[in-house]
Parts: sequence; C-alpha cells; structure tokens
Amino acid sequence: PNLRVIDINSVMEDIRTLMTSDALLHNIDLEFHFSEDPAECEVDVEQIKQVFINLIRNAFEAIGLNGRLSITTRVLEKECEVLFADNGPGISNEAISRIFEPFFTTKEEGTGLGLTVSYRIIQNHGGTISVDSEEGKGTTFKVVLPLKK
Ligand code: ADP
Ligand code: MG
Repeated sequence: PNLRVIDINSVMEDIRTLMTSDALLHNIDLEFHFSEDPAECEVDVEQIKQVFINLIRNAFEAIGLNGRLSITTRVLEKECEVLFADNGPGISNEAISRIFEPFFTTKEEGTGLGLTVSYRIIQNHGGTISVDSEEGKGTTFKVVLPLKK
C-alpha cells in the first residue's frame, strides 16, 4: 500500500468532481456534508477512492432514476466517519447478511466483488465498514477510519 496522510474531505472533493455528471444523468441529488475539522487519515488514496466510488456506484445502481445520495463526513475523537445514505429500495434481510460475501450480487450483470474488496481495503486500514438498511426507505453505509495521531 502507498500510504500518505490526507484529509478525507479532499479525497471526497475529488470524488464529487468525478461523480457529478453521473448523478445529473440519473437525476440523483448528490449532497455532501463535510466536517469542519480536517479528517486527516493515513491511507492509500487510490484504494480509499475505490471504496468510496464502489459505494456511490452501488447507491446509484440501487436508486436507478430520481433519488438522493447524501454523503457526510464526521470527525470524532480518534476516528473519522463517512456516511453514504441513499433513498433507494433498501436491502432485504436475506441479502443483508450476504452482501460482503464474494460474488454475492442481485444484479443481472453484477460481479458481487465491490463490497468484498471494499471491506478488505477498509479492514487493512484498521477501519470498519457497516450497513444499515430499511426496505422501501433506503440504505446507509458507514466507513470508519482511524485519524492520524
Ligand atoms: P455488485 O454491485 O456487483 O452487485 P457489490 O459487492 O458492490 O456487487 O454489492 C453486492 C450487493 O449488495 C448488490 O448486488 C446489491 O444487492 C447490494 N447493495 C449494495 N449496495 C446497495 C445499496 N446502496 N442499496 C441496495 N442494495 C445494495
Ligand atoms: Mg458494486
């Protein structure tokens, strides 16, 4: 891994630039709420970008057309949190226990690897990734990364 110290908010700014046209195309309101304090973490930036893009793509694919994805960064005492909250269809109880398994997909052309790889990357950074979902309401993924001491 190619580690460096970076403000997760600046990583997210790059992602915003990358994903804005996709959001417009699908009429998805992509909102960002950045922490006031810098979220300085020691990360492999390309890997972390890959995780964030995976989560955003999944949200867009779940929403289809017309919806909202709200991305929030928070700085806590020793860690930063990044929340991806969509108002898509949600995830069924059967599916939710399996979404991090390799090759689990509910999509015609899915690989089922995005979340597996994302989980591994975040774990390798000493962080956690978790999900909270309600069918018919939406899904929130939470990524927690340790702050640089
Ligand atoms: P893929 O996108 O190729 O299906 P992933 O590992 O990225 O593989 O995701 C696995 C499964 O988790 C998806 O097929 C989908 O059923 C579910 N999923 C992931 N993110 C969301 C989301 N935001 N809303 C609803 N379902 C989701
Ligand atoms: Mg995916």
